[in-house]
Amino acid sequence: MAGIETLFTQAKLADGSLNDIGVASGRIVSIMPAGSAETGTERVDIAGALLVPAFVEGHIHLDTSFYGDKWIPHKACTNGFDVHQRVAFQAQNMAQAAPMAERARKQLELCVGHGSLSMRSHVMVDASVGLKSLETILAIREEYRGIIDIQLVAFPQSGILKSPGTAELLDEAIAMGADLVGGLDPASFDRDLQGHLDVVFGVAEKRGVGVDIHLHDFGSLGVFTVEEICARTVALGLQGRVAISHAYGLGNLDADGVRHIGAKIAAAGVSIMTNAPGDHAFPPVALLRAEGVNVFAGSDNIRDSWWPYGDGDMLGRAMMIGYRSGFYTDEELSAAFDVVTAASAKALGLEGYGITIGAKADFVTLDAEHVPEAVVAVPKGRRVFKGGRLVAENGTVIR
Ligand SMILES: [Zn+2]
Repeated sequence: MAGIETLFTQAKLADGSLNDIGVASGRIVSIMPAGSAETGTERVDIAGALLVPAFVEGHIHLDTSFYGDKWIPHKACTNGFDVHQRVAFQAQNMAQAAPMAERARKQLELCVGHGSLSMRSHVMVDASVGLKSLETILAIREEYRGIIDIQLVAFPQSGILKSPGTAELLDEAIAMGADLVGGLDPASFDRDLQGHLDVVFGVAEKRGVGVDIHLHDFGSLGVFTVEEICARTVALGLQGRVAISHAYGLGNLDADGVRHIGAKIAAAGVSIMTNAPGDHAFPPVALLRAEGVNVFAGSDNIRDSWWPYGDGDMLGRAMMIGYRSGFYTDEELSAAFDVVTAASAKALGLEGYGITIGAKADFVTLDAEHVPEAVVAVPKGRRVFKGGRLVAENGTVIR
């Protein structure tokens, strides 16, 4: 076929068919049964491996991970999970960590090596660090342009009202190049749900950007906050551009309660991010999806002050989401896969995502029979292509 620059041969797609995929100018221009496409100028033999769209890392913290740095032992909260105390531990740990740029590069390469080629990272913006972390991560984003697409959220880790000057800093952060405005437990951390949301949605409205709010609150406080965020989203016409990360409160409801709030979340076009965390409640993925809610995923913290876990592998994350959600059928396992691919792409508003003609040629090869097997086996030995160019193999980034 005319115009093909690179032909990826013998690629198995999710439906089991073997295809030759033509790529030109970084985009997929043809998908034809294997052997039927004419010779491209360059061939890459996929050799029957499963070829899937690149993973989307929907929630990570590039500024605060210690991955690749020395091991910093986790400190436990003295009286149960406490965001204030964790933030204080984080400040102590950051003071003894390697330079942020060094740590961010290692974390990025970990993610790309596993096949994530789009990412949303929260970056601390508050009175303690000002805009310094954002400056560093903005420079890292430039360094990795062409390898991974990165959205940055201006994240008020120390609250907004509790940390004077943060409202102005969030606004400035957007002017500097952050893509979204973040928030943190408006009621339990800042003790002022409406005041906190006034700032977050005020910046979103003024700057024309989306919103991604960390919400750790459990029970009815968490649910009430979700409702308020949905109402503000609709009021400002921000449907499709707002996400709530964690939303643990949704995990405390019975099925009727989930259906009730799920319908509201879906109608508001608000996405819910989960990483299927450790030992407590998290959003019920299947019930929310059944209500039409877009549930997406991220690694969140990788070896940082919040927990020592995380490997930057979104396929492994799909396995964890499936495991904790009690997903066993092929349909359920495929849903877990969807959460880390298409649903995350939708939450991030990515253009040209998927294995389809016209989409960006951002894909990963997996040594698996099909998607459900890939989710349970989490095969290594992947090849990662960005715009049709090999950017990682066997976990190592190729610059
Ligand atoms: Zn987070």
